[in-house]
Amino acid sequence: MSYETEENADSLSFLLEDDRSLDTRLASIDASTASIIGRALEGIRPSVDEGAHLLTLRDNELSALVAAADEIRREDVGEVVTYVVNRNINWTNICFVGCKFCAFARYKNDEDAYERPMSAVLDKVQDAIDRDATEVCMQGGINPEMDGEGYFDILESIRARFPKIHIHAYSPMEIQYGARRMGMDYPEYIGILKEKGLDTIPGTAAEILDDEVREILSHKKLDVATWIRIIKTAHSLDIPTTSTVMYGHLETPMHIARHIDILREIQKDTGGFTEFVPLRFIWQNTQLYAEGRVAPIPQGQLDLAVYATSRLMLRGLIDNLQTSWVKLGHELSTLTLAAGCNDLGGTLMEESISREAGADAGEYTSVEELEAMIRRMGRIPRQRNTVYDLIDDPDGGHTKETKSYEIQHEGHAASGWSGSS
Ligand code: SF4
Repeated sequence: MSYETEENADSLSFLLEDDRSLDTRLASIDASTASIIGRALEGIRPSVDEGAHLLTLRDNELSALVAAADEIRREDVGEVVTYVVNRNINWTNICFVGCKFCAFARYKNDEDAYERPMSAVLDKVQDAIDRDATEVCMQGGINPEMDGEGYFDILESIRARFPKIHIHAYSPMEIQYGARRMGMDYPEYIGILKEKGLDTIPGTAAEILDDEVREILSHKKLDVATWIRIIKTAHSLDIPTTSTVMYGHLETPMHIARHIDILREIQKDTGGFTEFVPLRFIWQNTQLYAEGRVAPIPQGQLDLAVYATSRLMLRGLIDNLQTSWVKLGHELSTLTLAAGCNDLGGTLMEESISREAGADAGEYTSVEELEAMIRRMGRIPRQRNTVYDLIDDPDGGHTKETKSYEIQHEGHAASGWSGSS
């Protein structure tokens, strides 16, 4: 599925053909909505209620929101759009957790269940390096036969052979499982992961940070408090993480706004998030869809509303807003660059999780394709590493406003922004 081929897609012609100025667009919408957006332009982040309202905007009002998010992106992070050359490695799809939104997991005796031997994992890391990747991104199912030390062993083996590759690995769910199996608390367990070679952690397994929704999506998954505890522990050990949300299933706008609010409160406290990545739910092959719990939500306007609202709500806290070509397809993800995004994610090289759920954007997007998508929007493509240092940057190394990534433990604000709230 992609925006290019999806029948169930909103027309965005109202937006693409709108050449009115931001001021004119704001003047054409409801005054209280214009006031929320106007204050965000001045540096006052929308409240949770206001964010939930922005997420519902469509058509002409969405056009104003998108233009404002684009303006804020321009002011805060400039015209550069970054990407990372990375390789996903999913070493096992065996999982007992049973998330209803997941089409990737298999039970041990399923015909297509797999658990890659270490030699195969190392071959994939070598392949990543041969293809100039700076990062391997590793996540797997929660395999009941893997003990907590298994996570250490993988890191140790990779690090022994590849001392320089950046290892971005293990969702908070995997960390909860590993720590439990080892009978360790999170600081001890994550500290050992770091010693063994872990560099950064994906802020996945977040889905929607609301326990009632999580109970429906996956009642065996870690709860909100545990997700926050693991993320904050990682940050306290100077391990940056990404942050994500999964939208477009059975959540309400208020759930998304509250979720973003949780992230910004963590970020104020730790400064440990490198980026925020809204991830559209891919419904086709999931249990949630088979059970009739979700109806496909049209692609297009919802996605732009989520990205644009995220840019406003996270202003001054998380500068890097990543779009997902895997979830949205190349055409729509390119358009989201005009709705506040400044990062196009990674080349990936291998992608099973979205593909098995029904996404058809492919498993690999080359550097040339990523750069062409960015240039199509009149922006400047630049390769970065996992923590947003620019690669081969003639000016010295960092994205416009994001200095080399260091977690600040006392009060964090993204640089280059002086707003309040
Ligand atoms: S999302 Fe992760 S934890 Fe949930 S079923 Fe899929 S692989 Fe398992």
